[in-house]
This record gives sequence, C-alpha cells and structure tokens, in this order.
Amino acid sequence: MKHNGSVKVNGKGHLEIGGVDTVSLAARYGTPLYVYDVALIRQRARAFKETFRKLGVKSQVAYASKAFSAIAMIQLADEEGLSLDVVSGGELYTALAAGFPVEHIHFHGNNKSREELEMALDAGIGCIVADNFYELDMLENLCAEKGRKVSALLRVTPGIEAHTHDYILTGQEDSKFGFDLQNGQAEAALKQVLSSGWIKLLGVHCHIGSQIFETAGFVLAVQKIMDKLDEWHARYGYFPEVLNLGGGFGIRYTEEDHPLPPAYYVEEIVKEVKKQAGSRRLPVPEIWIEPGRSLVGEAGTTLYSVGSRKEVPHVRKYIAVDGGMSDNIRPALYDAKYEAVLANRPLDKCEETVSVAGKCCESGDMLIWDLPLPKTGSDDLLAVFCTGAYGYSMANNYNRIPRPPVVFVENGKDELVVKRETYEDLIRNDLRLRVPLS
Ligand SMILES: *Cc1c(COP(=O)(O)O)cnc(C)c1O
Repeated sequence: MKHNGSVKVNGKGHLEIGGVDTVSLAARYGTPLYVYDVALIRQRARAFKETFRKLGVKSQVAYASKAFSAIAMIQLADEEGLSLDVVSGGELYTALAAGFPVEHIHFHGNNKSREELEMALDAGIGCIVADNFYELDMLENLCAEKGRKVSALLRVTPGIEAHTHDYILTGQEDSKFGFDLQNGQAEAALKQVLSSGWIKLLGVHCHIGSQIFETAGFVLAVQKIMDKLDEWHARYGYFPEVLNLGGGFGIRYTEEDHPLPPAYYVEEIVKEVKKQAGSRRLPVPEIWIEPGRSLVGEAGTTLYSVGSRKEVPHVRKYIAVDGGMSDNIRPALYDAKYEAVLANRPLDKCEETVSVAGKCCESGDMLIWDLPLPKTGSDDLLAVFCTGAYGYSMANNYNRIPRPPVVFVENGKDELVVKRETYEDLIRNDLRLRVPLS
C-alpha cells in the first residue's frame, strides 16, 4: 500500500488520513468524497520555499490554482506564504473571494478576454503573464484608458521537447502558448514592452510541461533563456528582475512513477541560473516557480462506495463505483493511472484482479484497469490515491451527477470546505421553455 503524507492504517484496520478514519468520513459526508491531507500540502509548500531560502535566492513559489481552486485551498496557499497563479476570470474571482493578497497573484492564459484583463487591472493584479501580441496590444490600450500601470512577464517558448526521458532542443516550438524564443517573436515582444509607458516588464516566464521526472528539461530551459537574455542585455541594456520557470514537477501516481523530491528541482534550477549568470557576468534574477500538481496531487484521495459488479467470463471482472469521469476525468482524458485500496480493510489480502468502472454512460468511463483487490461487496469503500490535482478542478456534471464535496483533514480534525452539489444546484441556471417561443 501507498504510504505518503499522513495516510496509514488505524487500530480498527481502516485507512486513516490526517488522523481521521476514512470510514467515518464516508459515513458523515457520503461518497464520492474528496479528502485532502492538509499537512502534506503544507510540507510540500515548505520544501519548495525553504530550499530557495537556504540557497539565498529571492524567489516566489506560486501555487498554480488550476490544479485545485476553491476558497479554502487558496486560504491555505496564503497561510503558507505562497503566491498564486490564475488562468481565468473565475480563478481570479475565487482568489479574490478568498481574500488572497492581489499583489501576489499572477494571471496566465493564451486568450485572456478584455473583461478578464479589466478585472485583473481593477483588482490591482501582481502581474500579467503576457502570452501574445493581441494581448499586449489590448493590455496597453486598457492601461492607457484606465491610467493604470501594470507589471508583466513575457511568456516565452524556449523550444524544448520532452521525449519520454530526454529533452531535445527544437528550432521552434509547436505550442499555442507564448512568444517563440528562436524566431524573433520574443524579441519583438520585448521591444514592444520596453517602449510601453504602461507595462512594466518584470521578466520572462516559461513552462516546459507537466509530470516531469528529471531536471534536464529545466536546466536546458535556463540555458536557452539565459543565452537570449545575455543577447538582449547587450543589445537593449535590459536584464530581467524575474525569471519564472513554471511548474510541472512530477508526482507518484503509481509505483511506476519515480518523482524527485521538490527540493531537488529547486536546487538544480538555482544551480544552473547561478552558473549561467556567473559565467556571463549577469546578476542572478529572482527565481519564480509554479507548482500545481506537486503541491496538491498526492494530498488528495477520493472515497467511493462499491456498487454493481459484472463478470465477463474468462475476460474481466468489473466493479463499479458511485462516481467516475464526472469527478475524475483524467483516466478517460489522458489514460492516467491510479492506485487504490479498500478504505475499510486496506490490509486484507488481494484475491482477484478487477477493473474499476465509473457510473457514467460512456464505455470510456473507467477509473482503474486491472487492480488487485480483496473480493469486494457492496459494503466496501474504495480509496483512490493521488486525486488531489486536476480531479475536483476538472469535475463536471456529465449525466447530471452532482459534484462531490471536499473535506480537509489535519491533526485528527476534519472540515468540510466544498459542499456536495444538490439536484437544485444542477437546475439553477435552467430556464423554463415558454411556449410558443416569443
Ligand atoms: C499548468 C501550469 C502549471 C502547473 O503545472 P503542474 O504540472 O500542475 O505543476 C504551472 N504553470 C503554468 C503556466 C501552467 O500552465
């Protein structure tokens, strides 16, 4: 069984998280239920921050809130002294509603609308991560209209492709995000912003991918960007205050994943930035990173009740749970893999191999293929691990299934932080047909 964070088996032989019995959580809140191990989130946040502090580099660790955005989560990020990334008006709204300090919010996205940019400017956003020329023009005009200056990072694509275990440099990156570093787009954006009276250029940003298990890609990105910054420094006398290297640090979904400790990514990134800056006699910029998954992914566990069962003789045994692609679309979307145990008897011997199906009307709605489990019955509770990132945040109402609640657990206490949706919630925005149509 998986032992991360505070997950363990208690005296009753039940799975316990944050000192709270998962069987009693399921009884109190119902299933499906997302349970977050708050201590593990804190531990991850501190590991990133502490490593920067030890290395004596100015930094910001921004939680990429798209991984899991809810008011309580944003409050927790604030408590831990994190900054915050948002990628939409809705995420910004959530952050502001949570009372998150707006000067530490960074706004991302490849197609921010005029309304979203206005909302960010009016709130006094910490910085805009500018993605394209359309946005730069719109931002410039809006700032001029409002008589308001704004700080920005330029998102650049350094042309690095991940090939399973290697990274290769490509002349150009085929991505919808950012200004290309190689073909002159990034430099044109730089010139545009440097001549702006409204946009203050803080620095550059890149994000090379997700679920990355080694540091080579980050090191390459630093080299590529520092090369360019050196050129720009010589040509324009500009050197950024901030170098933001994005997120994407890998986590352990199953035993096949071998992530590095959070501190290691930071150490390698800082080492390379210092080396590149030193050899070029450039200052060491402030370094920002943006972990999402690695802060919250392993901290989340989803509890389901086991329901129906189907055997296809000589082929497969299916067990179905009371959720599925509506609360975790990642297996259907990316063929993502998960591990699970029976929360009410995690130590019982596994006697069969089953495939765990969701309850949605879609053959692709499978959560786990070929999972060893004890013989299950309908009293059993399934705990699927590592669902804390892109689970709740990608949850949907397919089949009009209400979204599950979220509970935080820590030091033997539990607190409901997102209520279960009700059937009334599902029809809240529906309007009755008036016949005949007028
Ligand atoms: C998605 C994203 C992140 C977070 O990625 P994780 O894999 O969850 O760490 C960080 N920065 C940017 C720009 C992103 O798009």
